[in-house]
Amino acid sequence: MTPIPFNKPYFSGKELQYIEASIRSSKISGDGLFTHKCHRFFEETYGFRKALLTTSCTDALEMAAILCDLKPGDEVIAPSYTFVSTVNPFVLRGATIRFVDSLPDHPNMDVAQVEPLINGRTKAVICVHYSGMACDMDRLTALCQEHQLILIEDAAQAIGSSYKGKPLGTFGHLAAFSFHETKTIISGEGGMLVVNDERYVKRAEIIREKGTNRTAFFRGEVDKYGWVDIGSSFLPSDMIAAYLYAQAENIEDIQQRRRSIWQAYHKGLQPYSKLVKLPLIPEHATNNGQSYYLVCRNLEERNALIDHLKKQEVNAVFHYLSLHKSPYFTGKYHGPELPYSDLYSDRLLRLPLYYELSPDSVAGICQTIGQFYDKSHS
Ligand SMILES: *Cc1c(COP(=O)(O)O)cnc(C)c1O
Repeated sequence: MTPIPFNKPYFSGKELQYIEASIRSSKISGDGLFTHKCHRFFEETYGFRKALLTTSCTDALEMAAILCDLKPGDEVIAPSYTFVSTVNPFVLRGATIRFVDSLPDHPNMDVAQVEPLINGRTKAVICVHYSGMACDMDRLTALCQEHQLILIEDAAQAIGSSYKGKPLGTFGHLAAFSFHETKTIISGEGGMLVVNDERYVKRAEIIREKGTNRTAFFRGEVDKYGWVDIGSSFLPSDMIAAYLYAQAENIEDIQQRRRSIWQAYHKGLQPYSKLVKLPLIPEHATNNGQSYYLVCRNLEERNALIDHLKKQEVNAVFHYLSLHKSPYFTGKYHGPELPYSDLYSDRLLRLPLYYELSPDSVAGICQTIGQFYDKSHS
């Protein structure tokens, strides 16, 4: 087999044309022609109240953290099995993080474990839709309503996915998406903050524009603009938006192709499903083809399988390491053991998945995995 990378960015065709159009429009800074096209596309396609492109999902979450108006001692509840950017922005704003474990049968957070962590200092709950598959949003929204908490969706992997027919990113007061090159639609680096609660819209625009009311000024709502709040420069160049718009126009095709690769893995690996756990799509969730992963029986087996695949020049990778046990957080963590977060840290393995991955390559990877289990572990 020819070497198979873990990821390969996909060009849908019009990226260069749109970047050129952006340059010719004589405005390549933020909030130009293509940024507005992207905003309208995402708002109209998914029913987001307000879409604001950002330079990354991390930055969208930093905006969310500023919008939460955190005071010292305020607490934020989040899963431990996630990327550091889910919680780092809230740590930067001085919040204390209370970590939740994953579900036994899915890396998503166990929503039943959220309520016992809620107290008078709790300000927000962040959920992560792992691999683009929805968390239990009925329970989460009810819980946040009951306790008057801000609900934030880290929907970095979840564009185009839904929960019981409703798009992800529409449940939280705020939601953050990523267009990093490892996600389904991409712009290299890139992200988006979605604001579904009207109360946060104006301030979100100000925070994104260095703490100024420039956006309102350009709409003619104020006759001069100035420094009105804290903020930073969170808006991307319009050339990034131009790239993203070409991808967004093709999101159906891109995700359909990724889903069919996902299905090919799932079918090809079915004979081994007693030896290695295949991913589960929760009944309430859809699959946007973000990633295909396996859960091995232990850390040694997972690492041996990575090595076995590497010998065939297939680049499979492990994923998150429990944040509550990270070098930064371990001394600050005083909660219970989070066994399932640790389990996925040790045992989860992600397989190559990108638009141009051929059916033959998928079959070859399944065969290589089969050899591993036939030989040494049955
Ligand atoms: C990719 C990812 C991020 C970070 O996205 P960037 O756009 O790279 O900042 C955050 N959270 C999750 C769950 C992710 O998968």
